[in-house]
Amino acid sequence: MGIRGSDTHTLQFNNLKVPKENRIGEDGFGFKFAMKTLSGGRIGIAAQALGIASGAYELALKYSKERKAFGTEICNHQAIAFKLADMHTEIEAARMLVMKAAWDKDQGNNYDMSSAMAKLYASKVAMEQTVEAVQIHGGNGFVKDYHVERLMRDAKITQIYEGTSEIQKIVISRGVIKG
Ligand SMILES: Cc1cc2nc3c(=O)[nH]c(=O)nc-3n(C[C@H](O)[C@H](O)[C@H](O)COP(=O)(O)OP(=O)(O)OC[C@H]3O[C@@H](n4cnc5c(N)ncnc54)[C@H](O)[C@@H]3O)c2cc1C
Repeated sequence: MGIRGSDTHTLQFNNLKVPKENRIGEDGFGFKFAMKTLSGGRIGIAAQALGIASGAYELALKYSKERKAFGTEICNHQAIAFKLADMHTEIEAARMLVMKAAWDKDQGNNYDMSSAMAKLYASKVAMEQTVEAVQIHGGNGFVKDYHVERLMRDAKITQIYEGTSEIQKIVISRGVIKG
């Protein structure tokens, strides 16, 4: 569907023997290590989602100032102006969550929850806003020339990989309940 610049394949290891000295931890260490890696990766995917949302917003803003319909640039129609207001606000909120998660990681704080929150929210914003960007472009949004259809297809994966949005909610709710 999207991210066509990134090729995706399955890797299979059959009858593979790994020498003892290549182990990266003791017995029972693997799951925790994998989970920590995922938390770090989630900040990266949240940043990817933020970039996709910001790109779609910038293209939509530019187009809305150029395209005229019913005697004025479409940004002067309140229906379009309010979409731009929502997009701008939500992108700023997503940016704060991504920065907070990155800050937690840099400071050595636990970042399991903040990375899950950043990914959950930024990927939701990316998906919703790329759809809005296509809408603001009208028919031009549906065809390839204006790039927003690509951003809409690229946004979806950010709600799926490095843990789906449902999994992020499991992580966040567990953290909330644990306190
Ligand atoms: C383009 C692409 C690139 C990828 N790159 C990588 C990569 O580099 N490395 C890697 O390891 N993986 C990669 N993946 C795999 C990706 O991480 C998984 O597809 C993703 O984590 C979802 O797992 P799944 O497909 O098995 O879905 P499933 O786990 O089968 O989930 C199906 C649905 O059920 C829901 N669900 C599952 N369990 C629960 C639950 N307990 N509670 C509530 N809902 C639940 C999910 O949220 C989802 O909606 C990639 C996938 C794609 C499409």
